[in-house]
This record gives sequence, C-alpha cells and structure tokens, in this order.
Amino acid sequence: MKHIMNNNKPNDEFLRMLPKPELHLHLIGAIRRSTLEDLMRKYSVNFPAKPGGFIQKLKLDKYKNLDEAFRFEKFEDFLRLYILCMHVIREPEDMERLTGEVLEDLRNCGVVYVEISINLPPDRHFNMDSLDILNAINKAGKRVGEKLGIEYRIIIDLVRDYGPEKSMEILNSMAEMGDQNIVAVDIGGSEHRFPPGPYREVYKRARELGFRTRAHAGEAAGPESVWGAIRELKVDRIGHGVRSIEDPELIRYLVRKQIPLEVCPTSNIRTGVYSSIEEHPLRKLFDAGVKITLNSDDPGLFGSNVLGEYRLLMDRFGFSKDEIVKVVKNGFESAFIPHDRKEYYLSRLELVM
Ligand SMILES: [Zn+2]
Repeated sequence: MKHIMNNNKPNDEFLRMLPKPELHLHLIGAIRRSTLEDLMRKYSVNFPAKPGGFIQKLKLDKYKNLDEAFRFEKFEDFLRLYILCMHVIREPEDMERLTGEVLEDLRNCGVVYVEISINLPPDRHFNMDSLDILNAINKAGKRVGEKLGIEYRIIIDLVRDYGPEKSMEILNSMAEMGDQNIVAVDIGGSEHRFPPGPYREVYKRARELGFRTRAHAGEAAGPESVWGAIRELKVDRIGHGVRSIEDPELIRYLVRKQIPLEVCPTSNIRTGVYSSIEEHPLRKLFDAGVKITLNSDDPGLFGSNVLGEYRLLMDRFGFSKDEIVKVVKNGFESAFIPHDRKEYYLSRLELVM
C-alpha cells in the first residue's frame, strides 16, 4: 500500500491512528486542569493565597490565580505547581480518579501502552501510604485499562532530593509489597543539585530485586550527568538525555550501545532547557542514529498531550511517516515488557502501515 501510494508525508489522521507507546509520563503532572480545580475546591486550597496558607508556603502567592501559576517559565515554578497538585491528591479516591482520567486521555491520543511514573512518599501522604497509592493506581489501571484497551506498567521515581538512604529504604519497602505492576526505578527531581554517583548502590539493589532502571539525566544538567547515569548507575534508559548533544563522544557511545533516550520536547521548552523548538536537538539526535523515543512528561501542567508531541515531529521537525514510525518502534522496543509483548505491539504497527 505504502509503495502504491508513494506518500511518505504524515498527516493528523495518520498520527492519531498509530498505536503509540508513552514511556515518560509523571502521573501527577498529567492531571487535567479541571480535576486540579475540583480537588483544590474539595480541600479548600484557593487563590489568592491566605497568609500562612499552603499557597503562600509554596511561594505561589506571587500569582493572583491558577492561570498565572500555569504560565511558569522556570523549572522551580513548575516544581511548585507540581507540589500543589500533589497536595490536593490526598485520598485513594483522588488517586483512582487521576489514574482513570490520565489513561482515558492517553487512549484518546492513540496510546496503547504506558509506563506511569509516580513517587512513593517516605512517610504517609495525607490519608495514603505507599501501598494505598499503588492499590489505587492498580485499581483504576486495571478497570479503565481493560475497558479502553490500554496496557500500563509503573515506574517508581525514587526522587534524588530524598537522598540515597531514603531512596534505599523506599526501594526495600517495594520488595515487600508483592506484585504491584512495578517494572523499574528512576531518579527524578533536582538533577543539577544531586549527581547520579551516590545512587550507585540503590541501582545495584534495584537490579538485584529484578527491576529495570532509568534516570532523569541530561535535562537540567549536561553530558556529565548522562555519563554518570550510564557508568555509575548502568541504566537501561535515559529520561530526557537531550543535552548529550553537547558531547560528541557521548553521542557516539549512545549510538553504539543503542541506549534509548526518552525525549520530551514540549517539556524542555516549558521548563527552559531550550528557548525554542528551533533550538531543540531532537532532529540532530535522530539523524545521528540515537535511539530516541517520544514522550510528554507532564502534559497536564504543560497544556500538551502526546499527540501534540507527534505533531511537533511532523510540523516542526519535518519527520516523514517512516521516520515517525521509527520513533514509535524505538518506544515499543525500549519498553520494560517481555519480548513477546514488544512483538505484539510492533505487529500492530505493521497493520496501519
Ligand atoms: Zn520527567
């Protein structure tokens, strides 16, 4: 069919139809704006800030309303909005609602497989402990996932800001929770303040426990952070990794080893890693032969979605159909699922070509 039509130019319908993977998505950051507003009402967390209230404590009191808070330009302000979202997800029913809606939104973008990232609190989080959080995600994940035809797995973000000791405690507690659909661990958080090295033992232990690994690297910090994730943590995948482009030797290494990068272009613009799409190295990484996958990171807070990221590939990075399919294939091949599941998704992809 492809040869007869000889048309390698993608369009919106093509992007929508493609069965897609999403490997880098923070559950909290994928919250619908309307749901955030509902939950803020539910727990009486309101703009404008009250003296001594949570919004003031979070230094969001410089904003008059939520609209202004959503116009963040710096990573720190993005993080504050993220913490505000966490602060109004207090009950298992909030977490179930969030998970169900996020899966629904992903499915509407044509996503058929997702790895959801979540961090587990070092102590309790309002009315939930770690097990309550995972149970709520799995309850909604199973129900909504089966209904809509979207498969999910969970990645636990051990959050570098907690420090390696706390991260190790959380990791060990995960080993006692039984099968919770967790496939991997990650370190997100403040990359520029917490280099990967001190997490070496945490990652070693994670592998012993049978988890796959990734780390956020090469986003807020440069190539040395990516080298650290590879050499110290021996990660299977890199979250972001876009700043690898600053080191030709690292690019050669990533190409030779085919270490996947989870690229999230809109995120990089919104948090100020690059000032425009024109400056984003996605095209250069792809052309160099780096195994890039395409993801949305925190679509709820960026006002984006995964389909929008594919539109960027089409409209702004000038990708052909074949090139877009290559990126989708990279995603399924890099997923933390057994070989036969990868084969299944790759064969579904053949059907739409
Ligand atoms: Zn991320």
